[in-house]
Amino acid sequence: MANERTGLFCPSCSGVVAWKAINFTESFPCPVCGEQIHVPKSYGRTIAVVDLVLTLTVCYLAGARDETLVIATAVAYFPMLFVWAFLTRRLLPPALEIEDPLSARHLP
Ligand SMILES: [Zn+2]
Repeated sequence: MANERTGLFCPSCSGVVAWKAINFTESFPCPVCGEQIHVPKSYGRTIAVVDLVLTLTVCYLAGARDETLVIATAVAYFPMLFVWAFLTRRLLPPALEIEDPLSARHLP
């Protein structure tokens, strides 16, 4: 449920939330209806885990082994995450969710 050119759809009012209005780490108000909405936490975690596997694979294929593989992965992780997160948001965009004020206060 997304329009990769303009943004994502609000789950409350179905209005378009522009990419630059979307906060990937915290809940934010829908610019159309004002409802508190958020990107599912599992989305960010999945991107981070897949990025780690991708970075390890790329470093391994580039010839890094043992300690060098660990160091190369640590150094390449964040630059790779930046590129990977940008691509993933466009290719596999998250579905926005309505913030539940009751459960949100009890989450760690
Ligand atoms: Zn809305």
